[in-house]
Amino acid sequence: MDYQQILNKIYDEIKPLIGKGKVPDYIPALGNVSADHFAMAVSTVNGEEFTIGDADKNFSIQSVSKVFTLTIAMDLVGDKLWKRVGREPSGSSFNSLVQLEYENGIPRNPFINPGAIVVSDAIFEGRGKTKNRLLKFVREVSGNAAISFDEEVAESERKFGNRNRAMANLMKSFNNLNETADDVLDIYFHQCSIGMTTLDLARSVLFLANSGIDPKTGNKILSSRMTKKMNSLMLTCGLYDAVGDFAYRVGLPGKSGVGGGIAAIVPDELTVAVWSPALNKHGNSYAGTKALELFTTYADNSIF
Ligand code: GLU
Repeated sequence: MDYQQILNKIYDEIKPLIGKGKVPDYIPALGNVSADHFAMAVSTVNGEEFTIGDADKNFSIQSVSKVFTLTIAMDLVGDKLWKRVGREPSGSSFNSLVQLEYENGIPRNPFINPGAIVVSDAIFEGRGKTKNRLLKFVREVSGNAAISFDEEVAESERKFGNRNRAMANLMKSFNNLNETADDVLDIYFHQCSIGMTTLDLARSVLFLANSGIDPKTGNKILSSRMTKKMNSLMLTCGLYDAVGDFAYRVGLPGKSGVGGGIAAIVPDELTVAVWSPALNKHGNSYAGTKALELFTTYADNSIF
């Protein structure tokens, strides 16, 4: 398959859509990013890589990081995690408080904000230790030792993260957090602030396309049983309350973030990452979603 030709074709078609939508400004540091970026990267289990656009420019991965913390939690805590967080699509926005109240502080799934906050609590071993573990993990799976937190973004999230703070406190009141809201949110805000390129992102999730083994290094990152579960969760819960539309249009497990990134998995074949900062009303990259739809159409490689 000539993936470079496919990416070139997508880029030509997508150009009029780049910048359509809205760059989020509820985290002020994200609002400063230009809407005009677009990047796409493919990383295959056979070691081939293809890129188009700004694929070497760093962006804030935001909620895509929830895949990394959940991978660590699945490994550290295993199935016990599911006592504290569900596995169903939420059908509500990623930062809704209402559902959390009437479901007694148990978030619907690990990819909405309260679910990710519980996951951060489950892997908490101290602020410094947990953040170091996370960075070590991300550097390993990306193969890029320079990946780091963006302290400016983390601070902006802390300053303006009142809704996340409300969710953490609500869950604490239901005894679904072990640590203090501030400690857990320190991990959560930092994980969201991780900066990497679109190519780094495609590389970082490659183990999910290869039964949990990173084909770049041969390292086992996750068991094949847990990898199946992760891909299933991404398919059913990875795109906020637009997960049904994404599955219909793209047909792949994926995870998005409000930084405009989306990572998607074609099991046994490849990963494809996109980045374009302007979002649709559900919080997913507008041009990015369309680009992934075109990708599975032209490459004829959705999971269905
Ligand atoms: N840091 C963002 C927040 O907490 C992440 C949201 C997202 O990417 O879904 O609202």
